[in-house]
Amino acid sequence: MANSDTQKIKPIMEIKNLTTSFDTPEGAVSAVNDLSLTIRSGETIGVVGESGSGKTQAFLSILKLIASNGHTTGSVIYQGQDLIKLSQEEMNKIRGDRISMIFQDPMTCLNPYLKISRQLTEVLVEHQGLSEAKARKEAIEALEMVRIPEAKKRFDLYPHEFSGGMRQRVMIAMALLCKPDILIADEPTTALDVTVQAQILDLMANLKKDLNTAIIFITHDLGVVAGLCDRVMVMYGGRMVEGGPVQDIFYKPQHPYTKGLLKSTPRLDEDKHEMLTTIPGQPPNLQRMPSGCPFHPRCEKSFDKCQKERPEFHIFEEGRGKACHLESL
Ligand code: SF4
Repeated sequence: MANSDTQKIKPIMEIKNLTTSFDTPEGAVSAVNDLSLTIRSGETIGVVGESGSGKTQAFLSILKLIASNGHTTGSVIYQGQDLIKLSQEEMNKIRGDRISMIFQDPMTCLNPYLKISRQLTEVLVEHQGLSEAKARKEAIEALEMVRIPEAKKRFDLYPHEFSGGMRQRVMIAMALLCKPDILIADEPTTALDVTVQAQILDLMANLKKDLNTAIIFITHDLGVVAGLCDRVMVMYGGRMVEGGPVQDIFYKPQHPYTKGLLKSTPRLDEDKHEMLTTIPGQPPNLQRMPSGCPFHPRCEKSFDKCQKERPEFHIFEEGRGKACHLESL
């Protein structure tokens, strides 16, 4: 979807100044800082960054699934209500129904001791009040939709009787049963081999078209984002450092960290074959964040101001923003 088209669609979720910190024996640690994002129906947003960049914690915070020592502030407006202010009981009605999340390891969601049939129908009976027979019919249809061969025959199997890729499909079917407005997919293909990974990505692209579900795709791999996403947000040290349409991020990155990530990602779409390089150094320790720009110890463009002043995230052209003191790269 072109960026200008995307901008016209009514937002389904408005995240403003989302901040999450955790109490630890060494003091409070900020995992997500001042994150603002608008999500629209049917768009796919790639959330990219290294481990510890805050990408998973940000979306766990939205679903109120963070550890008990965590605190979240800011607002997440969905259907006229602020999710941050809801009780866990109220959130239970939204989670798995209007907003679903899938994880890298399907066994996080699937119970190894229960047949797939029971786990799938339970969602429909509990969240949508369907009869057992109707739930069974819809659940089998969902398995067919994610292309599980012989879905009817396999319906009464246990999770361990499916391969890793098939379990991932079952989890996607489960997440989509209630036709959610938003699907949050956290590294859903990382543990799979390349062929199965491509099939799952293809499947998600089709589901987005068929159901108009907004997909948030969390990954450390910019390459995966290229074919699937409309927009990308890049996170570093718990903050969004660059955001914009996928084409712009790939062809005109405006933050040195995004540029570094791209240089370390193999490209199949370009004639010139540049050497792959890695970003020197390590992601910051959230308990001891560097002064100024959190990326300055690793940034090849760093100058005096970078060590003293943290750059604010700002919009520099329509639909594009970054947190860097440099005007252009
Ligand atoms: Fe690099 Fe400075 Fe920009 Fe940070 S603010 S990314 S250190 S140039």
